[in-house]
Amino acid sequence: MRLAGKTAIVTGGGRGIGEAIALALAAEGCAVAVAGRSEAHLEKVAGKIREAGRESMAVRCDVTDPHSVKELFGKAKQKWEKLDILVNNAGQSHSDLLARVSFETWNQMLAINLTGTFLCCQAALQWMLPQKSGRIINIASTAAKMGFRYAGAYAAAKHGVLGLTRSMALETATSGITVNAVCPGWVSTDMAEKAVTTISGKTKVSEEKAREILANDSPQKRILDPEEIASTVVWLACEQARGITGQAIDVSGGQVMS
Ligand code: NDP
Repeated sequence: MRLAGKTAIVTGGGRGIGEAIALALAAEGCAVAVAGRSEAHLEKVAGKIREAGRESMAVRCDVTDPHSVKELFGKAKQKWEKLDILVNNAGQSHSDLLARVSFETWNQMLAINLTGTFLCCQAALQWMLPQKSGRIINIASTAAKMGFRYAGAYAAAKHGVLGLTRSMALETATSGITVNAVCPGWVSTDMAEKAVTTISGKTKVSEEKAREILANDSPQKRILDPEEIASTVVWLACEQARGITGQAIDVSGGQVMS
């Protein structure tokens, strides 16, 4: 096991990509705190991790709220002496033309996808800098590297995640900490299904056809499985990846090549 004795916090760990990441870290021997707003989802994942013989806690947290983030890290500190891995996975998308996006939606996209990541990174650094070790992995998107029609606010926030990742990587480069981003293409989760419903509703195509449209964004012509993102996260969390920092790793079937 590559992560035996390590500890991790995974935001948005109750379902989708976050659940796959939490389970994959646990499978490598890691104790995992899963954080998000829905207690039922979190308890389900924490239960699976405990059943697999690893320590886990389910912590209710809204990453857009600084007090809630402080409480999350406070609870982890009560249990653990060190924090090895933070995965900023919590995110939300919104579909509309930028000309129509409300001020409220714009702020919501920045708050959940960018500010939430910043708040958790800052809280983790207070722990990781004195211990002189740590891995921070931010789940961005292909929308962090290219523009997307109907996803401008989301893409702006995810581009911001890369700026945050690269700057923090420079600031921590001599502190034993690495900071990287993973940029998935379409992944089979509730978020992708929401896009399927939107495309199908607005263009009057079947949901099957809408899924095909998403799949065609990738040269591999397929929607990814959450486990494909999780295995990349595990790799970045491992000791052998200590030389990788400030990177934005694409897992998109070739949709982005930079
Ligand atoms: P889902 O919608 O399936 O899950 C989103 C997760 O984020 C849930 O666990 C949700 O939990 C949590 N979350 C949302 N808002 C908050 C909040 N304010 N505070 C804490 N947790 C929150 O999405 P995915 O699993 O697909 O996405 C995970 C990440 O991957 C996101 O950052 C997304 O942008 C990114 N991504 C996804 C792609 C895809 O095609 N699916 C493609 C590229 C990137 P709860 O609602 O209980 O709070």
